[in-house]
Amino acid sequence: MDDVIAAVATPPGKGGVAIVRVSGQGALAVAEKMFTPAGKTKVACFAPYRLYPGRIDCGGFADFGLCVYFKAPHSFTGEDVVEFHCHGGTEIARGALLRTLACGARLAGRGEFTKRAFLNGKLSLASAEGLADMINGESEAEVRAGSMLYAERLSAAVRAAQAQLTELLAGIDADMDFPEEDIEHTDLFTAKEHIRALAASLEELTRSYGTGKKIGSGVSVVLAGRPNTGKSSVLNALLGSDRAIVSAQAGTTRDAVEGSIEIGGVRFDLCDTAGLRAGADALEREGVERARRRIEGADLVLFVLDASQPMSEEDKEAYAALEGKKMLVVHNKTDLRADACELPADVRVSALTGENIPLLKQKMFDACMQGYNTDALFVTQERHYAALSRALALLREAEGLCGSVPPDLWGVPLREAWEALGEVTGETANERIIDEIFSKFCVGK
Ligand code: GDP
Repeated sequence: MDDVIAAVATPPGKGGVAIVRVSGQGALAVAEKMFTPAGKTKVACFAPYRLYPGRIDCGGFADFGLCVYFKAPHSFTGEDVVEFHCHGGTEIARGALLRTLACGARLAGRGEFTKRAFLNGKLSLASAEGLADMINGESEAEVRAGSMLYAERLSAAVRAAQAQLTELLAGIDADMDFPEEDIEHTDLFTAKEHIRALAASLEELTRSYGTGKKIGSGVSVVLAGRPNTGKSSVLNALLGSDRAIVSAQAGTTRDAVEGSIEIGGVRFDLCDTAGLRAGADALEREGVERARRRIEGADLVLFVLDASQPMSEEDKEAYAALEGKKMLVVHNKTDLRADACELPADVRVSALTGENIPLLKQKMFDACMQGYNTDALFVTQERHYAALSRALALLREAEGLCGSVPPDLWGVPLREAWEALGEVTGETANERIIDEIFSKFCVGK
């Protein structure tokens, strides 16, 4: 990390400004070589966090822009950082970047600035992942969850659990080191209670993944039902566009049609399916098979029925195929006749007039995001979930052993639990995982 890295920090294209970022010991020296201040202050004397106007040498041409110096350790990376704010043209930024390379910097890799921040202790691994979630987030809920991770909310909870484990382990060590002393270092009953309480709090955190996962990857919703009940029409009404092809001929929606909407800030991915119709032709049967698989993997199924007709055999068959799935029974075509279908409805809509479509959205949200509190901490990433689950299982193991075997034996799973927790913050994560995480960032971040 003793070399100086540089990259264009802004996205490629034309814009108001483009920023070239340089980090590492010697960043200011790079600026000295290529920036000529308009004012009297020399680059070497720049006060940190102040924007200085001046001439940016871009090799074959010059730009007039700004330079700012962030002094280590109070910078994003924890190192000396210099930024050049030039005019937002691709070639201008490229010229400035090439000039930094000529002045001693080397091109940064993907996520290398953030990786340096992590290695310099400016943020935890979970925080860096939160930052990536914020940048890549496609819904408000995703960005909000990312910002909580970035703000070290999960890391704080994990570190608190680790601190308690450390305390427990210290008690065990004291017992082992000074067994002859007549002091009870570890009160078995208290220790067991302590482990149980800790496990309960971790369990709550892991349980939050049920909802947190949907925040991160979207809630998957499948519309199902026999052909012609109006599934494509309901989907279009939800999407507010004519994305799916609506046809009066039964069985025409052969493939899954996808679109996403945001309800309460959460992304819902919708897909229409071919009607679950027996005795259809080969192509249609393939669509039906695909529909079945989609239904299996869905968080929620909207079972669409024609409210103007009694349930047919086909409806009943389709309904039976959905057994055990989380489902909303949707009566459609209420503009025709709303009370002919005998299966009780969770919501009655008309895709044609748009009646009750907002209510349907609300019900979808309630069905999938029950208890979703925007301020609560959620586990949104599988990596964190896996580490927390492992720590939880180890705590349960220690709890079971506590009292029946010598303390140093139940201390083993406790120590392993501590290490599993450390994977969340990055303290005990291996290099391969760390590299994988930072490779998801773009160059310049
Ligand atoms: P799918 O096969 O279940 O996807 O059904 P479609 O969306 O293709 O609709 C089948 C037929 O029902 C089409 O002729 C639609 O225009 C009609 N339809 C859909 N929704 C409504 C509705 O709410 N009211 C009325 N009157 N007709 C509808």
